[in-house]
Amino acid sequence: MPDATTHDRITLISGIALAPLVYGGLTVVAADAAALGTSLFTIAHMVSGVLFSPDLDIDSAIHRRWGILSWIWRPYMWIIPHRHFWSHSLVVAPLLKLIYFYGVLVGAFLGVSWCLAQLGVVVRDYHVIMTRAIIEGIAGNPHQAGLLIGGFITGNAAHTIADWASTTGKRLWRRWQR
Ligand SMILES: [Zn+2]
Repeated sequence: MPDATTHDRITLISGIALAPLVYGGLTVVAADAAALGTSLFTIAHMVSGVLFSPDLDIDSAIHRRWGILSWIWRPYMWIIPHRHFWSHSLVVAPLLKLIYFYGVLVGAFLGVSWCLAQLGVVVRDYHVIMTRAIIEGIAGNPHQAGLLIGGFITGNAAHTIADWASTTGKRLWRRWQR
Protein backbone atom coordinates (compact mmCIF):
# COMPACT_ATOMS: atom_id res chain seq x y z
CA MET A 1 0.00 0.00 0.00
CA PRO A 2 1.28 3.51 -0.65
CA ASP A 3 2.39 5.14 2.61
CA ALA A 4 0.95 8.37 4.03
CA THR A 5 3.54 10.57 2.30
CA THR A 6 2.84 8.99 -1.09
CA HIS A 7 -0.90 9.40 -0.51
CA ASP A 8 -0.30 13.08 0.37
CA ARG A 9 1.51 13.54 -2.94
CA ILE A 10 -1.34 11.81 -4.78
CA THR A 11 -3.83 14.09 -3.01
CA LEU A 12 -1.84 17.18 -4.00
CA ILE A 13 -1.29 16.15 -7.62
CA SER A 14 -4.89 14.98 -8.16
CA GLY A 15 -6.19 18.20 -6.55
CA ILE A 16 -4.02 20.34 -8.84
CA ALA A 17 -5.07 18.23 -11.86
CA LEU A 18 -8.79 18.48 -11.06
CA ALA A 19 -8.79 22.24 -10.36
CA PRO A 20 -8.65 23.40 -14.02
CA LEU A 21 -11.35 20.85 -14.96
CA VAL A 22 -13.65 22.15 -12.22
CA TYR A 23 -12.84 25.75 -13.15
CA GLY A 24 -13.52 25.04 -16.82
CA GLY A 25 -16.83 23.36 -16.02
CA LEU A 26 -17.90 26.18 -13.71
CA THR A 27 -17.12 28.91 -16.24
CA VAL A 28 -19.78 27.31 -18.46
CA VAL A 29 -22.53 27.19 -15.82
CA ALA A 30 -21.62 29.97 -13.34
CA ALA A 31 -18.69 32.02 -14.62
CA ASP A 32 -18.79 34.65 -11.83
CA ALA A 33 -18.51 31.98 -9.14
CA ALA A 34 -15.88 29.84 -10.89
CA ALA A 35 -12.86 31.02 -8.85
CA LEU A 36 -14.62 30.68 -5.49
CA GLY A 37 -16.15 27.34 -6.47
CA THR A 38 -12.83 25.92 -7.62
CA SER A 39 -11.15 27.09 -4.40
CA LEU A 40 -13.81 25.41 -2.25
CA PHE A 41 -13.57 22.19 -4.26
CA THR A 42 -9.77 22.09 -4.10
CA ILE A 43 -9.59 22.88 -0.37
CA ALA A 44 -12.17 20.16 0.36
CA HIS A 45 -10.19 17.70 -1.81
CA MET A 46 -6.95 18.44 0.08
CA VAL A 47 -8.52 18.37 3.57
CA SER A 48 -10.32 15.14 2.70
CA GLY A 49 -7.14 13.41 1.49
CA VAL A 50 -4.84 14.65 4.25
CA LEU A 51 -7.02 14.80 7.38
CA PHE A 52 -10.00 12.56 6.54
CA SER A 53 -7.97 9.88 4.76
CA PRO A 54 -9.54 6.42 4.31
CA ASP A 55 -6.65 5.09 6.42
CA LEU A 56 -8.35 6.47 9.53
CA ASP A 57 -9.72 2.91 9.64
CA ILE A 58 -6.33 1.75 10.95
CA ASP A 59 -3.88 3.09 13.52
CA SER A 60 -1.95 5.27 11.10
CA ALA A 61 -0.03 8.53 10.68
CA ILE A 62 -3.39 10.16 9.88
CA HIS A 63 -4.56 9.75 13.49
CA ARG A 64 -1.50 11.64 14.74
CA ARG A 65 -2.38 14.55 12.46
CA TRP A 66 -5.45 15.13 14.62
CA GLY A 67 -3.23 15.68 17.69
CA ILE A 68 -5.20 15.81 20.93
CA LEU A 69 -8.40 15.26 18.91
CA SER A 70 -7.23 11.89 17.55
CA TRP A 71 -9.60 10.14 20.02
CA ILE A 72 -12.40 11.20 17.66
CA TRP A 73 -11.33 8.49 15.22
CA ARG A 74 -10.70 5.68 17.72
CA PRO A 75 -14.29 4.32 17.68
CA TYR A 76 -14.31 4.69 13.88
CA MET A 77 -11.13 2.61 13.67
CA TRP A 78 -12.56 -0.05 16.02
CA ILE A 79 -15.88 -0.30 14.17
CA ILE A 80 -14.77 -0.12 10.53
CA PRO A 81 -12.69 -3.04 9.21
CA HIS A 82 -9.46 -1.95 7.48
CA ARG A 83 -9.75 -1.38 3.73
CA HIS A 84 -13.37 -2.36 3.77
CA PHE A 85 -16.15 -0.91 1.60
CA TRP A 86 -17.15 1.35 4.53
CA SER A 87 -13.76 3.10 4.56
CA HIS A 88 -12.34 2.44 1.09
CA SER A 89 -15.07 3.07 -1.47
CA LEU A 90 -15.50 5.96 -3.85
CA VAL A 91 -18.63 7.70 -2.56
CA VAL A 92 -20.17 5.84 0.40
CA ALA A 93 -16.99 5.85 2.53
CA PRO A 94 -16.34 9.63 2.46
CA LEU A 95 -20.01 10.42 3.06
CA LEU A 96 -20.12 7.97 5.97
CA LYS A 97 -17.06 9.70 7.44
CA LEU A 98 -18.79 13.08 7.24
CA ILE A 99 -21.86 11.65 8.98
CA TYR A 100 -19.63 10.06 11.64
CA PHE A 101 -17.79 13.37 12.20
CA TYR A 102 -21.10 15.20 12.54
CA GLY A 103 -22.24 12.54 15.04
CA VAL A 104 -19.07 13.04 17.10
CA LEU A 105 -19.61 16.81 17.20
CA VAL A 106 -23.23 16.35 18.32
CA GLY A 107 -22.09 13.85 20.97
CA ALA A 108 -19.36 16.22 22.19
CA PHE A 109 -21.80 19.16 22.49
CA LEU A 110 -24.32 16.97 24.34
CA GLY A 111 -21.62 15.55 26.62
CA VAL A 112 -20.24 18.97 27.58
CA SER A 113 -23.78 20.34 28.09
CA TRP A 114 -24.63 17.39 30.35
CA CYS A 115 -21.46 17.84 32.41
CA LEU A 116 -22.07 21.55 32.80
CA ALA A 117 -25.70 20.85 33.75
CA GLN A 118 -24.44 18.67 36.63
CA LEU A 119 -22.58 21.74 37.86
CA GLY A 120 -25.73 23.82 37.55
CA VAL A 121 -24.60 25.62 34.40
CA VAL A 122 -27.19 25.59 31.62
CA VAL A 123 -25.88 26.28 28.14
CA ARG A 124 -27.66 26.65 24.84
CA ASP A 125 -28.41 23.66 22.59
CA TYR A 126 -25.26 24.01 20.54
CA HIS A 127 -25.87 20.75 18.68
CA VAL A 128 -29.20 22.17 17.45
CA ILE A 129 -27.57 25.50 16.53
CA MET A 130 -24.84 23.66 14.61
CA THR A 131 -27.32 21.39 12.81
CA ARG A 132 -29.47 24.36 11.86
CA ALA A 133 -26.40 26.26 10.58
CA ILE A 134 -25.39 23.27 8.42
CA ILE A 135 -28.89 22.84 6.97
CA GLU A 136 -29.27 26.57 6.32
CA GLY A 137 -25.76 26.71 4.84
CA ILE A 138 -26.53 23.91 2.39
CA ALA A 139 -30.01 25.23 1.53
CA GLY A 140 -28.76 28.79 1.06
CA ASN A 141 -25.63 27.87 -0.95
CA PRO A 142 -26.45 24.60 -2.73
CA HIS A 143 -23.76 25.01 -5.41
CA GLN A 144 -20.95 25.80 -2.98
CA ALA A 145 -22.11 22.98 -0.70
CA GLY A 146 -22.13 20.60 -3.67
CA LEU A 147 -18.58 21.61 -4.60
CA LEU A 148 -17.39 21.15 -1.01
CA ILE A 149 -18.94 17.68 -0.83
CA GLY A 150 -17.71 16.88 -4.34
CA GLY A 151 -14.14 17.84 -3.41
CA PHE A 152 -14.42 15.83 -0.23
CA ILE A 153 -15.48 12.77 -2.23
CA THR A 154 -12.69 13.11 -4.83
CA GLY A 155 -10.08 13.64 -2.06
CA ASN A 156 -10.99 10.26 -0.56
CA ALA A 157 -11.52 8.61 -3.94
CA ALA A 158 -7.97 9.49 -5.08
CA HIS A 159 -6.66 7.55 -2.07
CA THR A 160 -8.94 4.57 -2.67
CA ILE A 161 -8.08 4.38 -6.39
CA ALA A 162 -4.34 4.54 -5.53
CA ASP A 163 -4.81 1.63 -3.06
CA TRP A 164 -6.70 -0.39 -5.67
CA ALA A 165 -4.04 0.32 -8.30
CA SER A 166 -1.29 -0.69 -5.87
CA THR A 167 -3.03 -3.99 -4.99
CA THR A 168 -3.72 -4.82 -8.64
CA GLY A 169 -0.15 -3.89 -9.61
CA LYS A 170 1.31 -6.15 -6.92
CA ARG A 171 -0.95 -9.04 -7.97
CA LEU A 172 0.08 -8.69 -11.61
CA TRP A 173 3.75 -8.42 -10.62
CA ARG A 174 3.52 -11.64 -8.58
CA ARG A 175 1.75 -13.46 -11.43
CA TRP A 176 4.36 -12.25 -13.91
CA GLN A 177 7.19 -13.49 -11.67
CA ARG A 178 5.78 -17.03 -11.44
ZN1 LIG B 1 -5.81 3.09 2.24
